[in-house]
Amino acid sequence: MTKKKITSKKIDTKYIFVVGGVISGVGKGITTSSIAKILQSRGHIVTAIKIDPYVNIDAGTMNPTEHGEVFVLADGDECDQDMGNYERFLDVTLTRTNYMTTGRVYQSVIERERNLGYKGKCVQVVPHVPLEVISRIKKAGMDATADVVLIEIGGTVGEYENILFLEAARMLKMENPQNVAFVMVSYVPIPSKVGEMKTKPTQHAVRTLGSTGIQPDIIIARSSEPLDNKRKEKIALFCNISTERVISAPDIDSIYDVPLNFEKDNVGDIISKVLSLKKPTGKKVAGLSDWKRFAETPKKSKKTVQIAVVGKYFDTGDYVLSDAYISVIEALKYSAYAQKSNIKLTWINSKDFETGKLKVEVLKKYDGVLIPGGFGATGVEGKIKAIEYVRKNKIPFFGICYGMQLAVVEYARNVLKWKDANTTEINSSTAWPVIDILPSQKKKLENREYGNSMRLGEYEAHIEKNTHAYGAYKSESIIERHRHRYEVYPAIMPDLRDAGLILSGLSPDGTLTEIIELSNKTHPFFVACQFHPEFLARPLSPHPLFTAFIKASLKK
Ligand code: GLN
Repeated sequence: MTKKKITSKKIDTKYIFVVGGVISGVGKGITTSSIAKILQSRGHIVTAIKIDPYVNIDAGTMNPTEHGEVFVLADGDECDQDMGNYERFLDVTLTRTNYMTTGRVYQSVIERERNLGYKGKCVQVVPHVPLEVISRIKKAGMDATADVVLIEIGGTVGEYENILFLEAARMLKMENPQNVAFVMVSYVPIPSKVGEMKTKPTQHAVRTLGSTGIQPDIIIARSSEPLDNKRKEKIALFCNISTERVISAPDIDSIYDVPLNFEKDNVGDIISKVLSLKKPTGKKVAGLSDWKRFAETPKKSKKTVQIAVVGKYFDTGDYVLSDAYISVIEALKYSAYAQKSNIKLTWINSKDFETGKLKVEVLKKYDGVLIPGGFGATGVEGKIKAIEYVRKNKIPFFGICYGMQLAVVEYARNVLKWKDANTTEINSSTAWPVIDILPSQKKKLENREYGNSMRLGEYEAHIEKNTHAYGAYKSESIIERHRHRYEVYPAIMPDLRDAGLILSGLSPDGTLTEIIELSNKTHPFFVACQFHPEFLARPLSPHPLFTAFIKASLKK
């Protein structure tokens, strides 16, 4: 695409950069999503971009304990979990244009240089790399016909890694001073021995940001407690900003309260003023009332559904991490809230069923058991034990991706009596390879082409009538997002059916198994799917399969 095309279409797009100060992990993604939500609720068309400063081309090849969940977009892009937050908060479908890494940016610059795209110029880190960043930002805005583009720059200011992205932000501001705003998400610690809120790290972070030529328009001060006026004034004075633009953002229980709290502090008005954002005319403005109702459900509901998630990506050192399953967690919440119920999740490490640290019988305590996606051999036998237990004891079960594949393995072993049935991901010489590599994947693995090479993104599936799946979707055709290399071995489909397993969702050509289930005559709810329904669940439109699972669990 030529540069002319990029700039000519929508000159008045506004850009809001969200950068981090002091430490990471204090909620830049939620801040970005929440500001975007507020502006959307005021009638603006909004899109959001995540910049990850690492060199990886995408998040697909990273270990979940290191990176958290890999979110998959409709177009198959494997990206950061913040993209999931944006899609969920905004209820939009984003594309790979909305996600950027250092690797991606350099790859484009180098490809362009090789194609003589720079017409013989000396291609330099500055300005050519930041210019590539800018052109990607503009393209994402144009593709979404956005009035406002939010750009979250990963990491914190002062890091070596994100300096070129900050430079791009500065250059874009220079090009268009009135259309670019900066939000800094900072952290205000309260050292336990001091017992007082300390603003100095924030002052330093703003100074560091200043050294890149950028002055924040708003400072979101994250802390365990609300900021008092004295601290606000201090930050304001030392960071060249008015007190109203220092926003107190204390820890809260639910991320869904953040847009509501920001609105109370006039964040929407402040941004609108900074960017001279005009109220959209002739449009019905949605406001935040539906959102508010949704966010209040857990505080108001009297019942609680208890769900056990049996997985493996939990431990990193001494810490327990549920980050790897964030979309699953949120999807469960939405469906529970829609049933006016609270939800309590319990993390069970499937390895504990193998070592004997936990007995599978603990599962009877829960209203439902979910087994999410995964890779590799760790904890697999524990998951299979769990599936056997919930199947035999009629505990509502929902399996996702690996969860479905292992449900098929369990069924083959224990119902069809194919003793060493397995997935070839774990045992390539099993006599019963009930889950096998997709033919399209074989070559890729042989050539060590691991990146962006699974069956990824949206695919259609056909649903059989009179099944749990049909009851949930109320449609014979669905589209869901995928991320897998293995599949139910097509030759065993008749055996599974003969043994009572219902293959209620299939690829349009009938060869790939997309959903399995047991008849409601034999089990109240035993459903598993090859795709990842969690990526399509949204706060105000929960996913039908999750809702069916939660309803069944509430009945137990
Ligand atoms: N490991 C399995 C596969 O590659 C399942 C993947 C997943 O759960 N996302 O097919």
